[in-house]
Amino acid sequence: MQSIRGTKDILPQEIASWHAIENIIRSLTSQYGYQEIRTPIMEYAEVFKRSVGEETDIVGKEMYTFPDRGGDDITLRPEATASVVRAAIQHNLTAQQQIARLYYVGPFFRYERPQKGRQRQFHQFGSELMGSATPEADIEILSLAYDFVKTLGIKSHELNINTLATPTVRTQFKARLVEYFSSFQAELSEDSKNRLTTNPLRILDSKNPADKALCEQAPTLIEMLDSESKDHFDAVISMLDGLSIPYTLNPRLVRGLDYYSHTVFEITSTSLGSQDALGGGGRYDYLFEHFGGKHTPCIGFGFGMERLLLARSADQNIEQLPSSDVYVIGFETSESHNAVIGFAHELRTKLGKTVITDVQQRSLKSQMKEADKIGVKHVIIIGPDEARSTTCIVKHLETGNQYTKQRSDMEGLFTE
Ligand code: AMP
Repeated sequence: MQSIRGTKDILPQEIASWHAIENIIRSLTSQYGYQEIRTPIMEYAEVFKRSVGEETDIVGKEMYTFPDRGGDDITLRPEATASVVRAAIQHNLTAQQQIARLYYVGPFFRYERPQKGRQRQFHQFGSELMGSATPEADIEILSLAYDFVKTLGIKSHELNINTLATPTVRTQFKARLVEYFSSFQAELSEDSKNRLTTNPLRILDSKNPADKALCEQAPTLIEMLDSESKDHFDAVISMLDGLSIPYTLNPRLVRGLDYYSHTVFEITSTSLGSQDALGGGGRYDYLFEHFGGKHTPCIGFGFGMERLLLARSADQNIEQLPSSDVYVIGFETSESHNAVIGFAHELRTKLGKTVITDVQQRSLKSQMKEADKIGVKHVIIIGPDEARSTTCIVKHLETGNQYTKQRSDMEGLFTE
């Protein structure tokens, strides 16, 4: 039996790096005043169809959707924003003009062709700021995303930023794109030919070389901005400058999802290869209405955890696994084994030590060998003789020094 293609077991030797990232997520989000939300891994398919958009790759090609035994169409979530908005409306998290600052960490599912940095089950950390349309909200989210990548120690990163303007401007822009690309229909890739009718914006971030060449001369949205879109984007850019956050203006950045408007951004890393996006996000001011909620402007981002780990290990040494403090050894008699169990428990609860004991009733020699292999600092032996008395033998593995101590003097056990 093998794990499903595109899914991975995260093994004990890798977990220290996951914990390190998760710890940074928890401390940084709390510094910004964000609280965690955990939504179900499955939702009604409608949640994503209605928000992400029927014409996107995610909904069109990549969703794990199946009828459950009751006949409902269920989807394993491919992204978080739709679920978080669904939950925010259901639980009234933004009632009475309240701002909601939320973050999430967890698994997501997309039926994509697996390769380095691309899996069918992957993990994301993301944040959503709900209830504000101001450029200050954009800068809070951008600054959180940027601080996160910096704190992780990923050096080779670049923040790309663009505006998708208001829906009205975007509709005009789409029409101009269709006009432009229609005159090169024969040269467009099959996918992009289809996008001409379904989602012309997506032609701009096509990876196909022929499409890319045509995009060079394509009209850009920045030339068509109305004053509302321009003022908003200018304010965001000037605040980025104020915070000395470096960025690249990228007029071709459109992001895959239908629901974005105004600011969109992506953080890429050169250590990643072809799947170079660490994360991205943008403003989505109309998603609440889509779900039947009140108008609630929002902005958020999502980072791929596997890619953060890849970029991080390329840039620096990753964490050492935490080692155990003590190995407590007993042997031969049940009195000795019982004393070990009781004493190990006391060391954990009273001194907070990390303690390993044998569970295979092995000899003194093989337990010593294992303690050496694990790399504990101290071995404590409560053999048959010690078990009958109140003492134990403490051995400091690095120096080889060994001494007899009273078991009741727990504080003094580890000083020679
Ligand atoms: P998206 O929701 O498509 O903007 O994705 C946000 C981030 O999630 C991307 O920048 C990636 O880092 C990560 N991501 C998306 N899809 C996958 C996948 N199939 N495998 C691994 N990471 C992914």
